[in-house]
Amino acid sequence: MASSLMTSPGFRFAFPIILMGAIGLGMDHIVQMTQSNWGIAANMPYILLGCALVLCYSFKQGRESMVCIAMLFAYFVIQNRLQTPLQTGTTLLELTILATLLPVSFLAVFLFNKEGFDSKATLTYVALLLMFIFWSYVTLTYYVVGGFDEWTDSILFIVPAVSKLPLVLVLYCIGIVCFLGILVLKKNKIIHAMTYSAMVLASATFIFFDVQYISSTMFTLTGLLIIVYSTSASHQLAFTDSLTLIPSRRALDLDLKHMGRKFTIAMLDIDHFKKFNDTYGHDTGDDVLRMVAARIMKTQGGAKVYRFGGEEFTIVFKGKYSEECEEYLEETREAIAQYEMTLRDQDSRPDDNKQGKKQRGTASSKNKTVSVTASFGVADSRSARNPLETIKFADDALYKAKKAGRNCVKFSRA
Ligand code: GH3
Ligand code: MG
Ligand code: MG
Repeated sequence: MASSLMTSPGFRFAFPIILMGAIGLGMDHIVQMTQSNWGIAANMPYILLGCALVLCYSFKQGRESMVCIAMLFAYFVIQNRLQTPLQTGTTLLELTILATLLPVSFLAVFLFNKEGFDSKATLTYVALLLMFIFWSYVTLTYYVVGGFDEWTDSILFIVPAVSKLPLVLVLYCIGIVCFLGILVLKKNKIIHAMTYSAMVLASATFIFFDVQYISSTMFTLTGLLIIVYSTSASHQLAFTDSLTLIPSRRALDLDLKHMGRKFTIAMLDIDHFKKFNDTYGHDTGDDVLRMVAARIMKTQGGAKVYRFGGEEFTIVFKGKYSEECEEYLEETREAIAQYEMTLRDQDSRPDDNKQGKKQRGTASSKNKTVSVTASFGVADSRSARNPLETIKFADDALYKAKKAGRNCVKFSRA
């Protein structure tokens, strides 16, 4: 799929850093451009983060919407409170508070349920942000009277060569960037990519706060990045099968339009799957579909794999005729047949604890393993006029495989 580069962990990890580097190199031009269009530039983060919020909301990306809200709050604070030199009044203290609380707000997003958009959760999150603002207000109003000079000399110690921000906060921001970066590389969900990007760009804003127009530039970029991630994630979702997490029939339909002249298509159908479902239940059936998908994904020879529907999968080899694919398909068929899946023993586990203890360790409570087989029908571009006809011939060959006793690969030879 076209979106695979955009959604790969490496890209998501490196992109905000590359962007930041590019901005660093071209900052002089950006300053000039921003100066002459300040009316628009100052409001750009509101516009883009606002659009990003609407997009996340319409794609039911609840936690991602929270990142937009946190960034909007932060930009509002920067524009309304932090536009005086850092040495004047409480500006440095306010920046310190913001640089402390924004990362906390990003991390707080992970406290919420990951599925869908929940208005109650969003309101709770907004209430949390308002609480942060109230707390900051109280801190500024009451504690500043006593003076923060002692703090500035000790905890809020600044190394001007590094940043105008206290060193401890620079390290704190870098630490959280690293933490979120690891999450992107390890888990690579859209929420990780978004919090990480927002954190990288917000940290750059805080650390280089004395650079002119840094906040409008970085927050505009964050808005753009969130829009890119949100759209690419929902695009990917539309082309991914939700059960097996492999490309869906819709992705296959699209890819069939760009097959070239030489290709092979294999149709795969799990054997006696209805009986399997009847015996072990639909949930175990779903586990088997996931297991089979995982095995097919390992097919060699440059294969692309799709869930065609139900218990049927499609394997596509571009630039190969069927005899060149036979070895790879046989390997996959065997891998499926030899895989022994351990049954989840939840349903048979007794409710009563004592009885459960008695049963544990006896033969009946031992985890049972099951296995399935699959049949394959293969056709290539020599036998048909177009990819759709090739699928039809592959289906005919699959029928032959079923008739021949299942668990085998049959070819439609022209
Ligand atoms: P054959 O060997 O001839 O292919 O027999 P079969 O039983 O596999 O074929 P049939 O087409 O009669 O049954 C397909 C079954 O696949 C029916 C349905 O219960 C099951 N199935 C389809 N989609 C899903 C799914 O998403 N999850 C589960 N658990 N089962 C599914
Ligand atoms: Mg079937
Ligand atoms: Mg079947």
